[in-house]
Amino acid sequence: MTVLNTLTSKEAIELENKYGAHNYHPLPVVISKGKGVFVWDVEGKKYYDFLSAYSAVNQGHCHPKIVEAMVTQAQTLTLTSRAFYNDQLGKYEKFATDLFGFDKLLPMNTGAEAVETALKIARKWGYEVKGIPEDKAQIVVCENNFHGRTTTIISFSNDPVARKNFGPYTEGFIKIEYDNLLALKETLESNQHIVAFLVEPIQGEAGVYVPSEGYLAAAKQLCETHNVLFIADEVQTGIARTGRLLATCGNCSCEDKNCSGDPEVKADILILGKALSGGAYPVSAVLANNSIMEVIKPGNHGSTFGGNPIAAAIAIAALEVVADENLADNAAKLGVIFREELTLFCKDNDLVDSVRGKGLLNAILINDSEDSSTAWDICMKLRDNGLLAKPTHGNIIRFAPPLIINESQLMECISIIKKTISEF
Ligand SMILES: *Cc1c(COP(=O)(O)O)cnc(C)c1O
Repeated sequence: MTVLNTLTSKEAIELENKYGAHNYHPLPVVISKGKGVFVWDVEGKKYYDFLSAYSAVNQGHCHPKIVEAMVTQAQTLTLTSRAFYNDQLGKYEKFATDLFGFDKLLPMNTGAEAVETALKIARKWGYEVKGIPEDKAQIVVCENNFHGRTTTIISFSNDPVARKNFGPYTEGFIKIEYDNLLALKETLESNQHIVAFLVEPIQGEAGVYVPSEGYLAAAKQLCETHNVLFIADEVQTGIARTGRLLATCGNCSCEDKNCSGDPEVKADILILGKALSGGAYPVSAVLANNSIMEVIKPGNHGSTFGGNPIAAAIAIAALEVVADENLADNAAKLGVIFREELTLFCKDNDLVDSVRGKGLLNAILINDSEDSSTAWDICMKLRDNGLLAKPTHGNIIRFAPPLIINESQLMECISIIKKTISEF
């Protein structure tokens, strides 16, 4: 196996292609090291990471405080299962519920599992608290949503690639247009069996669609009027990415009055994942108040690894880093600069149609047909020029660096992006 220790990029890619299932189409770059905002490939070339593992690495690669928490806990106790208590989980639950402003937390591992958990809680609440007749509960979701990959979640996706030939699909979901209050209002008025509205505060995977000002607050209000739970999937938007601790920021304890979040909105059920561990470990969570979370009784739900002591120790450290290093403020401030610079650039460059986003979750729209390879080709050139990004849907390129990036690094990245696109 000595060969495997001195792998070139080409060899590593060939191994994955031959022995791995082809469920992804990665950009051809093989990363072997990460530190802060940078990653290095196996040949030693250094790149800015402008994907941050889909916003999981908000705190930067291999953050020393998170790594230290992980190593210390790994040397002490890794897993008990929830058959027994462990001495880390309760501390983490108290810390996170205080921080986000909820009574209780239910720990899981991946984002998709946390979404599934939220759906189960909402349905059970619907039957036991709201009084919906058996098996009639409906959950409203949005078109072009992305909530993960399980059978139930893809049942209410409208991405044909994610759905086709995975049926039969789970029932009980009503799809409406995103950012359309009238559609939500009419749906809630016309159906007595709705238990919840599941929404992403910004649709990340769909291409960083930011809803109209006030949409989330008004949607939340409509839900309250109809006794329907507002479920915020903040797996991608949460943990400072959009310039506040949460994008539905009525929940959180951050005090910045100038922040661009939507302080009117407090979700009934909050779903977190990705950066909850700073990308060090799969950690996800569902948060809700007692009146909702108490429908879950022993045996109703669980996960062998959910709430394990390593995850708990890591999550505390990862959330502390967000506060210690003012990552929300940094994302808010640098996001403004990023959009200003690229908006100016768009005016002189026909290839970039527009830039949009919030905080450091941004995207540029390439002026080409959706099935063209232009966005991919630009990402290949960005790679050659030392910056890693990936197209989302067709002609949209998302830019989401670690939130620890500083202004001079960001300016350097903006010039890499401008130079690369100008050469097209
Ligand atoms: C990534 C993501 C998920 C799924 O998370 P996994 O950890 O990949 O299962 C769910 N919702 C949103 C909004 C996401 O961005």
